[in-house]
Amino acid sequence: MLDILDQDIQYLSGVGPKKKEMLQKELGIGKVSDLLEYYPYKYVDRSRIYHVDELRSDMPFVQIKGRILSFEEFETTPRKKRLVAHFYDGTGVADLVWFSGIKYASQQYKEGVEYIVFGKPSVYGGRYQFAHPDIDKAADLQLSQMGMQPYYMTTEKMKKAGLTSRSIEKITKSMLEKMSEPLRETLPPFIANRLRLVSRDTAMRNVHYPKNAEDLRNARFRLKFEELFYVQLNILRYASDQRRKYRGYVFQHIGNIFNGFYRDHLPFPLTDAQKRVMREIRQDLGSGRQMNRLLQGDVGSGKTLVALMTMLIALDNGYQACIMAPTEILAEQHLATIREFLGDMDIRVELLTGIVKGKKRKAVLEGLIDGSVNILVGTHAVIEDTVQFLRLGLVVVDEQHRFGVAQRAKLWNKSQNPPHVLVMTATPIPRTLAMTIYGDLDVSVIDQLPPGRKPVVTLHKYNNQTTSLYSGIRQQIKEGRQVYIVFPLIKESEKLDLQNLEEGFETLKEVFPEYRFSKVHGKMKAAEKEEEMQKFVKGETQILVATTVIEVGVNVPNASVMVILNAERFGLSQLHQLRGRVGRGASQSYCILVSKPQLSDETRKRINIMCDTNDGFLIAEADLKLRGPGDLEGTQQSGMAFDLKIADIARDGQIVQLAREEAQKIIDGDPNCDKTENSMLWQRLAALRKTNINWSAIS
Ligand code: ADP
Ligand code: MG
Repeated sequence: MLDILDQDIQYLSGVGPKKKEMLQKELGIGKVSDLLEYYPYKYVDRSRIYHVDELRSDMPFVQIKGRILSFEEFETTPRKKRLVAHFYDGTGVADLVWFSGIKYASQQYKEGVEYIVFGKPSVYGGRYQFAHPDIDKAADLQLSQMGMQPYYMTTEKMKKAGLTSRSIEKITKSMLEKMSEPLRETLPPFIANRLRLVSRDTAMRNVHYPKNAEDLRNARFRLKFEELFYVQLNILRYASDQRRKYRGYVFQHIGNIFNGFYRDHLPFPLTDAQKRVMREIRQDLGSGRQMNRLLQGDVGSGKTLVALMTMLIALDNGYQACIMAPTEILAEQHLATIREFLGDMDIRVELLTGIVKGKKRKAVLEGLIDGSVNILVGTHAVIEDTVQFLRLGLVVVDEQHRFGVAQRAKLWNKSQNPPHVLVMTATPIPRTLAMTIYGDLDVSVIDQLPPGRKPVVTLHKYNNQTTSLYSGIRQQIKEGRQVYIVFPLIKESEKLDLQNLEEGFETLKEVFPEYRFSKVHGKMKAAEKEEEMQKFVKGETQILVATTVIEVGVNVPNASVMVILNAERFGLSQLHQLRGRVGRGASQSYCILVSKPQLSDETRKRINIMCDTNDGFLIAEADLKLRGPGDLEGTQQSGMAFDLKIADIARDGQIVQLAREEAQKIIDGDPNCDKTENSMLWQRLAALRKTNINWSAIS
């Protein structure tokens, strides 16, 4: 017999071919199970009726019960009308107001009939009013049974076709009523009992049709837990399988290279945080397991040095190491930094990017195969199949949260065993998100900046306050500093983007005729970009005008001002990254966020957060809350997380943690997946993997 969950929704009452097609096209709902997992996004308590004399304007949606006394029509302008119905419930009068659909409303609703009016109260002209309320005849509603009313997300197209939240509610309700058999359980009883979770059947029914707030809370908790639990089980299962399948190189030896560097070349003492992280890394490298470690540290916290010292350990043990950056500029900068750190040490460091061609490229490739190249610095070009190493023991991936499981797996055919992997990111990822995106990685954090750094002062200016902005810039340049001016990237139109930059550039040249400029944008050839950047790095130019290509990693300690134009167009983490380009030297640095004067609440919040704090973790948390995790880079590409339908990584951090712990217990207790009590878990996981993940991307 066909499982009810697999049945086509077309056969549900209230769904014909037309609605079915719309649901499929707009929301991807085709089967009963899809509809079940199409959860409401909010609920409104309809179990209680309020009195007019207890209304307050800060109340959410509420309902009142009473009768219309009379209608009045006003002409606000010759072409605009407003219909008002005075509504009395025995305790006071509230106004029901329509700005459109006036004819319909005045015909539909009658004086003297008892109605239940549902809407959000606000105050107008000293009276409470409800604009465009939902109105039902009191006789038609059985309020005691209504409980919490669910609201489902619908699209414009659906609304136009009359497929509203209410219609979905009705379809879902009749479907649930038709399902006489309880839904199959998807969590084993020992977990459900221990955590006091309601059954899947109860949870599903109550999430769509809760009688009260408590039922709803329990239902949502159960469903969120289940969702996050399977994500964690998937990640941990994968990590554990990898570990069992592959051995890691053992780098136990700390030899002349590392010690020589530490003794003679390290220009400054390590911070305590750097020392702690080095200890964690050394432990991994000596353990016989392959290291998969995420190194988080705010911009400027000194990750590059940690990466270099880790590479030196690989060298001491007779292996080669490689460091990958997301852009050519950054790769070149790493090359320069590393060579400078190493000074006269006898270590061959080479660069491999898209612009290294011909003879030069051939020499590097040969050096990798014969083992004479010790450290390779490169871009993604490094993971191409043509690049082969003699003994690759360690790969460092810098500033790259787009480097998921699949890419890591690609590295493995470059050496006998999988090389150790250290992923570094300056975009601090909140713990709960890291657990999900990088759930198979161990995490180290550098939570301390090198001494002597002055926090960057961040100011907000409107774009009509350029006089003070320009004089500030002039002041800093007179003191010998350099300035970044960043133009926003307009995603919709690269052409506009460039035009924006060019026009702005011309204006700036007129404002500052006495200074020299560098200009960098994404459309330039790599060599050109490099030349412009170098002029700025060497101090030949005072102002660098750029689109966001400078976002990651550029290190010019003498630059002390970061001006971000149209700051309202940037996300928080981007702003934070950009700000991280200054504050690297000893002098006081500034970040100036320039925006238009009218800002939405959310944008204003973003800008205020930037002005209030330099703490990347606080900013990342705020970002996650403001934007939701779906937007964050990496969540899609990670390839590990299922589509989350009800849980929210930003808000459900504690459930993520709980799910993680429970999943870990299962993995630890059943490494071979052969315990009977867990068989349901492994079956369910296999089914989810089939429908939710593109595993072919992972070799
Ligand atoms: P990020 O973590 O952003 O990659 P970098 O590695 O580029 O940071 O380091 C930023 C700057 O701080 C560099 O100029 C680096 O040489 C310097 N630095 C790193 N570690 C220390 C330290 N322990 N003491 C002083 N300066 C340091
Ligand atoms: Mg860096």
